Amino acid sequence: QAKDSGKNSARFFTADMDQAVQMRTRLEAQLRRALDQNEFRVYFQPQVDLRTHRIVGAEALIRWVREDGSMCPPSEFIPVAEETGLITPIGEWVLRQACTEAARWQRLSATPVSLAVNLSAYQFRHQDLSRLVQEILRETGLPAQMLELEITESLLVQDDISVGTTMQDLRHLGVHFTVDDFGTGYSSLSYIRRFPVETIKIDQSFIRYCVQDHSAATLVEAILAMASSLNLRVVAEGVETIEQRELLRSLRCGYAQGYYFGRPMPAEDFAALPALAMGVA
Ligand code: C2E
Ligand code: MG
Ligand code: MG
Ligand code: MG
Repeated sequence: QAKDSGKNSARFFTADMDQAVQMRTRLEAQLRRALDQNEFRVYFQPQVDLRTHRIVGAEALIRWVREDGSMCPPSEFIPVAEETGLITPIGEWVLRQACTEAARWQRLSATPVSLAVNLSAYQFRHQDLSRLVQEILRETGLPAQMLELEITESLLVQDDISVGTTMQDLRHLGVHFTVDDFGTGYSSLSYIRRFPVETIKIDQSFIRYCVQDHSAATLVEAILAMASSLNLRVVAEGVETIEQRELLRSLRCGYAQGYYFGRPMPAEDFAALPALAMGVA
């Protein structure tokens, strides 16, 4: 009997694997088509200075609306794009599109608005990233110092010399670096000092509970203290309530982003935000 059930579970296991492989293959084909058919969009979410309540930046977030109108979240397709290498053309498309929009805001708006773009580790390894960024900045006319590239902690702990070199090249152009989802990985600021990083984004999982849960608030406070001693800017991610905003302000967190200030939105809506000043009580 034990033998039988072992056989069965082995069979189920292969069936599951087949299905997973099939789904991945299908998604890969759909992603290729999405690129050709222009099914991707870039949305922009405001980033706010907590002292002045002014919008100082926007994060570009990719959106995929399939042919049938359904939305596929980045958490589902970005990993597949990374595994298949499709993140290279997709990432390039996002960067070009986002920089084009941001360059327009610089011309229209009296206050400068920086642009944050997410990068995958894959883009550092398989592409001459500094040349690409340089090319796109020239093409779009976006000043380099208005561009922030968001990377993850895992890219920095790999201790890959070429990553550091690429980052230095880009920093010399004027581009800034932000460590995204800070607190979820290695959470050590010591290695961050070895790279040209100006900003860390505290992961939304800490912000979500910081009002109710004292230990989450203590962690946020500790991160802010470390960041301040290293002269790093801090952006709190996932701020949804006024209570969270007030707590972060009282802890002297500089910047915030989240549904409370604005959801990710199409470029036209972002540009139309009233005087680019929101959240004023
Ligand atoms: P991320 O870079 O950490 O982006 C923040 C995510 O939190 C976004 O999800 C955003 O829509 C969401 N968010 C913002 N404010 C709130 C809030 O107040 N509450 C909650 N619950 N969520 C909030 P999204 O757009 O689904 O993107 C998920 C992840 O996919 C991103 O995390 C990023 O890692 C990746 N991603 C998105 N666009 C790109 C891209 O163009 N290139 C690459 N390589 N990755 C991307
Ligand atoms: Mg990000
Ligand atoms: Mg994040
Ligand atoms: Mg992330």
